[in-house]
Amino acid sequence: MTSDTSRASLLAGAVLHGVPVVPGIQYAPVIRPGKLPDLDLPADAQVPEGEREAERERFSTAAAAVADRLRERAAHATGPASEVLAATATLATDRGWLGAAEKRIKDGAPAVRAVDGAIDQFVDVFTKLGGLMAERVTDLRDIRARVIAELQGLPEPGVPLPEEPSILCAEDLAPADTAGLDPELVVALATTLGGPTSHTAIIARQLGIPCVVAVTGLDDVAAGTMVMVDGTRGTVTVSPDAESARSQMADAKRATDAAASWTGPGATADGHPVAVYANVQDGAAARAARNTPAEGIGLFRTELCFLNTDTEPTVDEQAKIYAEVLEAFPESKVVIRTLDAGSDKPLKFAGHPDEANPALGVRGFRISFNNPGLLQRQLEAIALAGERTGTSPWVMAPMIATPEEARNFAESARSHGLIPGVMIEVPAAALLADRILEHVEFLSIGTNDLGQYTMAADRMSAELATLTDPWQPAVLALVAMTAKAGVAVGKRVGVCGEAAADPLLGCVLAGLGVSSLSAAAAAVQGVGAKLSQVTMQQCRAAADAVLGAASAAEARAAALAVLG
Ligand code: PEP
Ligand code: MG
Repeated sequence: MTSDTSRASLLAGAVLHGVPVVPGIQYAPVIRPGKLPDLDLPADAQVPEGEREAERERFSTAAAAVADRLRERAAHATGPASEVLAATATLATDRGWLGAAEKRIKDGAPAVRAVDGAIDQFVDVFTKLGGLMAERVTDLRDIRARVIAELQGLPEPGVPLPEEPSILCAEDLAPADTAGLDPELVVALATTLGGPTSHTAIIARQLGIPCVVAVTGLDDVAAGTMVMVDGTRGTVTVSPDAESARSQMADAKRATDAAASWTGPGATADGHPVAVYANVQDGAAARAARNTPAEGIGLFRTELCFLNTDTEPTVDEQAKIYAEVLEAFPESKVVIRTLDAGSDKPLKFAGHPDEANPALGVRGFRISFNNPGLLQRQLEAIALAGERTGTSPWVMAPMIATPEEARNFAESARSHGLIPGVMIEVPAAALLADRILEHVEFLSIGTNDLGQYTMAADRMSAELATLTDPWQPAVLALVAMTAKAGVAVGKRVGVCGEAAADPLLGCVLAGLGVSSLSAAAAAVQGVGAKLSQVTMQQCRAAADAVLGAASAAEARAAALAVLG
């Protein structure tokens, strides 16, 4: 018996818990990404002066080969996967780190050590820059591993091509690895790290394969072990009973097939309407959402259009971009969110101050405190886009904390002829939702941030993924309060955070009194189909049960018991 199999047999039947990201059940053997190459060089190794030019050339050839391979994979992939691979390929040819590595080689470092040192240097820089740049650190490390493997004549590290349908288990996955996956062969993902909004989660959603992240104990499950991943419950069962696993997988597949025939509009089995909308970030995503039964756009994240823009786009430039989304749903409700710049989404032209704690700093609506012109020009552009498309856009402000902020935003939006609402992402706003509703026409609950601020847990942190689980009863209690305030005055309260992408949780949110759910286009079908299979009475019973639960896991189990 190998040490790997003995390790697996010790765990046989064990149920490991993580955070569910994409629903569905798969039962298959585990594959694991290849190990990173060892540096295997004494720290003081030096290349003789006469051989340094040849060493530099060896390095350039290796880096170019890695970039070429990434580009080739980008050409064969589609959608976001292709974009991720192309972006990694571009980073592999970035003059900054290539130059830094060449300089080290000129100074006598062997190529492998030069790559390691140069990438370390850039990892530091990117980490200090924070935000989206910090997220590219995983790409940099991935490039380092690939170039070093190339230099050492080793196989490219990363995900092996499985010969049969397999479940990819890893500590975390590099974007370039996940982007190239074939969903016929890699049928589910499970990681030890990562959160519900991590890169692994986004790709799994795109591929439509079950995914669980932040799984405790997963590192002990060896390649080749049969496991069952349940992306609804958030569990990985090690060496389960094969017959029971196969029958659970078949049940889950039947549910997915039933979802495929759902065509909307959103309603429970007994006819209570609960609108199902799509979240988008640009015109292309809005057009793609038209291929789903989405009844409109519940959240257009406008800041994502400008992440790489150095200067503020003109009103006309903005209007063109917004009009593309409005045109995709000319007859339906489209909710445009004003710039949620700051924290993990800094915009170069928003003039962010240097802050010790940007998640609690000047982000979202707060930018308008010192820079009201930016918001006014965006509202003007949205109004112009509405005029050009003959539509009446709804607008909402992110990160509202007080009724006064809501009043100020509503006044501005109305002065441009727009229908105003605000996001409920800060616990203070949920607590005073009734007073906020005196000023606006609708509310939209951002459960990603509401979770982060209620639980005092960074939404990007893998270690805290259990706390930022949208099933946390404390977060759902604030959702309940907000929804109740809307029902009392007959105004609409939707949810547009990731919570709305979970079919089971969607039913609970409906039971809490939420009138619409807005999720990534890929999740719309599953959410709508699940709603159509349960009654409003079941949704309300599930809502009562989760509010009485003491933990996220207990809340999920209680809802499953009621909603099946
Ligand atoms: C949220 O916080 O739930 C939300 C929808 O906004 P974002 O994820 O863009 O911060
Ligand atoms: Mg938010």
